[in-house]
Amino acid sequence: MLSPRGSNAAGHRGWYTVKCRICARKLYIGSDVVYYCPKCHIKYSTYFCEAHSRKLHRRCPYCGTELKLYL
Ligand SMILES: [Zn+2]
Ligand SMILES: [Zn+2]
Repeated sequence: MLSPRGSNAAGHRGWYTVKCRICARKLYIGSDVVYYCPKCHIKYSTYFCEAHSRKLHRRCPYCGTELKLYL
């Protein structure tokens, strides 16, 4: 839901941020390339930066599911 006033802290862009499970780099969804495991990202926060998703051959190291691009 979009609120024109923004109920969050002023000046914040409101981007949803996640952390790469491997290097803990902050990833901005909608700005950075973010891969995630559709099966276990809610449980294990399996989000990955582009470099690490490539290293993992686009497969989740926890359950083996193919990683998806977060858009
Ligand atoms: Zn990473
Ligand atoms: Zn997984």
